[in-house]
Formats: sequence, C-alpha cells, structure tokens
Amino acid sequence: MFLYNSLTRKKEKLSKDKIKMYVCGVTVYDRPHLGHALSTVTFDVLHRFLEYSGYDVKRVQNFTDVDDKIINKSKELNISAQEVAEKYIHSFFEDMDALGVRRADVHPRATEDMKEIIELISSLIDNKAAYSSNGSVYFDVSYSSDYGKLSRRNIDEEIDGTRIENDPDKKNVEDFALWKKAPPDEPHWESPWGIGRPGWHIECSAMAKKHLGETIDIHGGGLDLIFPHHENEIVQSESATGIKPFSKIWVHNGLLKRAGDEKMSKSLGNSFDVRDALENYSGNAIRLWILQSHYRQPSTLDDDSLSIAQKSYQRIERALSLEGKNGFDTNKYLNNFEESMNDDLGTPSAVATIFDLVHEINVRNSKSQGIAEGVNLLKDLLNILGFDTEYNKLEDKDIIDLLEKRNNFRIEKKYDQADKIRDKLLDLGIEILDSKDGSTYRKI
Ligand SMILES: [Zn+2]
Repeated sequence: MFLYNSLTRKKEKLSKDKIKMYVCGVTVYDRPHLGHALSTVTFDVLHRFLEYSGYDVKRVQNFTDVDDKIINKSKELNISAQEVAEKYIHSFFEDMDALGVRRADVHPRATEDMKEIIELISSLIDNKAAYSSNGSVYFDVSYSSDYGKLSRRNIDEEIDGTRIENDPDKKNVEDFALWKKAPPDEPHWESPWGIGRPGWHIECSAMAKKHLGETIDIHGGGLDLIFPHHENEIVQSESATGIKPFSKIWVHNGLLKRAGDEKMSKSLGNSFDVRDALENYSGNAIRLWILQSHYRQPSTLDDDSLSIAQKSYQRIERALSLEGKNGFDTNKYLNNFEESMNDDLGTPSAVATIFDLVHEINVRNSKSQGIAEGVNLLKDLLNILGFDTEYNKLEDKDIIDLLEKRNNFRIEKKYDQADKIRDKLLDLGIEILDSKDGSTYRKI
C-alpha cells in the first residue's frame, strides 16, 4: 500500500508487516463534531484496510483530558475537570460507535500517563533541549537545526515577519511550553519544577513512546495539527531519544468546511455535532458521505450531501438484500477496489466501484442471471470500509415495537417524533401503511 507522507510530500510504500499507528485524538470538553468524525473514520478505515491487506496494526488514539478548555467548561458546568473529561469521553465513544468506528487498541489519557510525560521532559532538560524557567519548562527551539521540517517553516523568517510579544520566561520567541506552572486551585500534578500540568504537544510524544516505542510507522491527525502540534511532537521526540525519524509517515486528513447558511438550515441548522447528524441520518450514510471525498481533500458539509448519501446507501442496501443463484464473475470489482485503496486510501473510487457492482447486481437480477457472488462481494467490501451490513436486519418484533411507539406519539399529538419513526423505518426499507383499523407495514 502507498500512502502520501506529509513530511516528504511523496506517496510512499508501506514496507513492513507490523504497523505502529498513532492518531491525535480529541480534547474532551464538548461533544464530537463531524470534523472529528471525518478524521476518526479515516483512520478507522486505514486500520481496517491495512488489516485486510495482511498488516499487523497497533493503533493508539489519545484523549487530551487536561486543558484550559476543559477547566473553563468545569467552571461553567460547576463539576470537576475530571467529570467534564469523563462525560465527553463517553460522548465520543457513543457517537463513534454509532458511526461504526472500531476502538483503537489503546486510548491513553494524558492524566494517566503523567509519569511518562514528566520523565520525557526531564530527559529533554538533561539533553539541554529544554530549560525550566519560573516554574514552567520550555523547549529550546535553537537546540534542533531541523525544527520546522514538517511544516517547512523557517523560524527566522517567521520571526522577522510577525510581531510576537516575547514572554520574559522564554529564551527564544518560538520556544513552547512542555510544562506549565498551575495555580493550586486548578488541576495540577507534582513535578521537579513545582506543581503544574503538561503542555499539549508533550502529551502525544510521551503517549506514543509509552504505547508504541521510540519510532512509529504512521502518525495521523488533521491538517490543522501540522503546525505547531506535530512539528513540536517531532522535535521533542527526536531530541529526547536521539532517534530519527520519530514517525516514518505523517498522514493528514483535510478539514471540514461548512456550506453557506442556506444549505445548512434544513435539519442540521448550524450544528456540526455528530449527535445531531445522527438524529437525521444513519451512521452508514454519514460514513458514506465521509468516504466519498478523498481524505486529503477538504469536505463540505451541507444537508443536501448528507441526504444524497442517505439515499445512495439505501440503493446499496437494496442490492445487499437480493438473493439469487451463482454465476457472477466479480474479479474486476475486487481488483478495482483494492487498487483504489492501495493508492493512498482512494475511497472515492473504491466507493464508485461499489456502485458499479450494485448496478450490475441490479441488472443481472432483473434478467434473472446469477448474482450470489456479487452480493457476497458487496457485503465484504462494505465491511472492509466499516459499514454496518447488519444494520438493516430489523426483526418483525422490533418493527412492531416501533409502530406502537409511533402510535403513542400520534395519540399524544407529538407528530414530529411520530414522523421521525416513520422516516427511520422508511430508510430501513419498511413502509408503514395506516388505515382506520390501525397501522401495518410492508418491506419495500
Ligand atoms: Zn497529538
């Protein structure tokens, strides 16, 4: 498989069987939004496809569970910072589960790896790459001659071009905090430099080293993390261990853009929340919407694209439910799919192959030709991309429960909620038939 490496700006071949992958996770102070979903689904699909291709993958995705934003939220909600983190870690898993994201092998939290964070900072001080100053610790960017290699920023030019207020505690303007002095009434940990908490960048270096070792194969995250976060991770890790590279390949997903307000007004309003999107669209539809764009391109969010994805996924599901005899040569579909995915996770053309396959299944079915191998392959390809192919299998008793629920909403005149159940069933290929004797249903 070839992946685009942001560090070398080339597609590079993954050459070994064991892949150690670290993905920057979320700071848990709010519900996940669709931008988080986009990144998390991308690396979930990368993990799944690598595994399908025979690689042995260990994926680590962290939670930043101590941060100014979490502390602010804890004041706002009048609960502890730890409770804020717990609450939103729970939301993250709940929403990602609904999108069919498999858990990483390890989901480390900064507060649980404090010992390793402090050790890493100490070794940077020992190597003279960092210094303590007035209760905080800073990385000295003049220590490393190749600082800026990922973002290709030139520090001198940067400083000439911008007016940055120098912090009197720092030696150089671009030095960044590894450890921040904290007031006693905020979350803090004991350290050789006094009470404080870690900077954001050092957390990832420490957690990657603890859970994956000194060199990793793939480091992932959103494009917005290249500078300063990933640049700083590189310089910290390489300066602490003396081993280069810290990560062989850097994979960055494009960011989520929002369409104009008029396109956002129908059901999503101004919300980016995964939870709100899941009220109106299935996890499979949202996943399809994500995979129809290439991961390195920016994605635009609007109601239309999500409802189109919803309808498209229904076409797939209808083909998936067909039964027929053998006699379908599916080789070209499998080859096209693998070729697309092997070329830098080309999910848009992999998805196009799935629609070609759906089309041929439908054509063959209408002519009563063999389709069984086609339907089986369709299911396999969907599973590789992480779609939930069991989603549609509602038992009759589940449907009757939902009909009853809808009926109660109608009696209570809660028509919005009643209609939601009707639409949900329709998405699953079940049409409700109302008559004066009550409601029945048929599978369409
Ligand atoms: Zn990170």
